Amino acid sequence: MSNVIDFPSDSENASAPFYGTCPRCGCEGELVNIGPDQWMVCDAHRVKWPLGRDVIPGWDVETEQQWQHNHWRIAGYKKVKPCFEERVGH
Ligand SMILES: [Zn+2]
Repeated sequence: MSNVIDFPSDSENASAPFYGTCPRCGCEGELVNIGPDQWMVCDAHRVKWPLGRDVIPGWDVETEQQWQHNHWRIAGYKKVKPCFEERVGH
């Protein structure tokens, strides 16, 4: 008998989904929802890049007030192309 939890084997390959990184600092950004419209933002560089619509579940638990807040939060952020540089293996 063992209490060790076996994670489903596919979790091994479940490296974090990759939505691009901030072209300035390489951070993965923070998810910001404006209704179903989803953005990644880097607060340090005041940039945002679009993920798409309803890409990551969970946005619908937020309130309209929160979306409004998010909208204004990133309204002044610069829209950029995220960096999709692959990690180069040696
Ligand atoms: Zn950045």
